[in-house]
Amino acid sequence: MTLEEIKALDHAHVMQSYGRFNLAVDHGKGATVWDSEGREYIDFTSGIGVCSLGYADEGWIAAITEQARKLGHISNLYYAEPYAKLALKLCTRTDMANVFFSNSGAEANEGMIKLARKYSFDKYGKGRGTIITLKNSFHGRTITTLAATGQEKFHNWFFPFTEGFRYADANDLASVEALAGDDVCAVMMELIQGEGGVLPLDQAFVDGVVKLCAERDWLVLIDEVQTGVGRTGTMFCYEQYGFRPDVVSFAKGIAAGLPFGGVLASEKCRKVFTPGTHATTFGGNPIGAAAACYVLDRLDETLLSDVQAKGVYLREEIEAMNLPCLGKTRGLGLMIGIEVRDGWTNREVAEKLMENGLLCLTAGPGLRLLPPLVITKAEMDKGLEIMRKALS
Ligand SMILES: *Cc1c(COP(=O)(O)O)cnc(C)c1O
Repeated sequence: MTLEEIKALDHAHVMQSYGRFNLAVDHGKGATVWDSEGREYIDFTSGIGVCSLGYADEGWIAAITEQARKLGHISNLYYAEPYAKLALKLCTRTDMANVFFSNSGAEANEGMIKLARKYSFDKYGKGRGTIITLKNSFHGRTITTLAATGQEKFHNWFFPFTEGFRYADANDLASVEALAGDDVCAVMMELIQGEGGVLPLDQAFVDGVVKLCAERDWLVLIDEVQTGVGRTGTMFCYEQYGFRPDVVSFAKGIAAGLPFGGVLASEKCRKVFTPGTHATTFGGNPIGAAAACYVLDRLDETLLSDVQAKGVYLREEIEAMNLPCLGKTRGLGLMIGIEVRDGWTNREVAEKLMENGLLCLTAGPGLRLLPPLVITKAEMDKGLEIMRKALS
C-alpha cells in the first residue's frame, strides 16, 4: 500500500489519538528503515527506544521463531521455561531478589506503585499510600501512571485520577522534604527524565533522596522504562549513580520489539506480592521472554561500553557542527537530548530531518535521539551527514 492509502484507512478507522509524522515505515535492517515508497532513512529513534538491536536482527528472529514453534502463550496458570530463565538472567545481572513481568512500561509502573503501597500496608497498615514523584516526569498513560506523572498537561479530561501522588521539584531536595508526611510510602523517579526532555538528575539530589528514603522507610522506586536495558551504557542507569533501588521498572528495550516489561524488587520487597495480589494474562509470555533472554545475552560488556563510546561520538559530532537551530547536548550513552534554539520548534526540526532521510524524536522542547544500541559507525556517520546538510 502507498502512504496515502495507509493514511486513508488510519484516518477512517483508527481513533485519532496520535499526531503521526507523514511517513509509513515498511521494513528495516540494522539502524536503517525503508518507507512505503521505498525511500531509505537512518533511524535515531528505535521505535522510541524499543528496537535495541535494530531491525530484523538474525539472532532475535531465530530466538522468537524457535519459541513460536514450541509454545506461543500459555498464561501464568502454569510454569514455563522462558520466563524462568529470563528471571534468573535479570536477577543475576542486577543482584535483585525477584521480578514480576508485565507487557508495557505503564503496566510495569502500575506494578511498582502497587508493590510500594502493599509493602507499606503490610508493615504500617492503612493511610500510608502517598508516593512523591517529580515535576516534569513521565510514568505512563493509565489513569494511575498519569496521576504519577508530574506534568499538569497530563492531568486533564479523565477525572477522577488516582489519588496519593505529590510532586516535588527535580534536583531540589528541600522540595522533596517539604512534601514529607506520615502518609508517604515511597519516592518514584526517572534518573534521566526522558519524555520531559532528557534531563539527568544531579548525583547529589539522588544521593539525598536515597538517604531520606532510608531514614523514613520510604521505598526508592526507579522508573527505568526508558533508561534501562543498556540504553545509557550500563544494564541499568542506577549503576552509574552508585546505588541500588528498592524496586526498578523496565520495558521499552527489553524484548527488542515485542511488548514486554517488568519490575525487579530488592530482597526487602521480595515477599510483597503473594498469590492473587497482582497478575496479568499476557505477562512473561514465552515469545517475549525468549526475545528478552536473547537481548540480555547480546548486552555484554563490549556492547555496553560501545554504547557509551557511540553516545560520546554522536554528541561531540553534533556539537561540533554548530548548526543554527541546535544547541547543547546532554544525556548518557545512547539517550541523547539536543537543545533546539529559539526561533525553531523541535517538531519542525524533526520533520526537516525526516524529509532528508533521518528519523529523530522530540522530548520536552528539544530533540531526542535513541538510536538502536547496535548502530554502526557508518550508519551514525550517514545520519550525521544528513543532519549537517538538512540543518545548515
Ligand atoms: C515510555 C515510558 C513509560 C510508558 O511506557 P509504555 O510502554 O508506553 O506504557 C513509562 N515511563 C517512562 C520513563 C517511559 O519512558
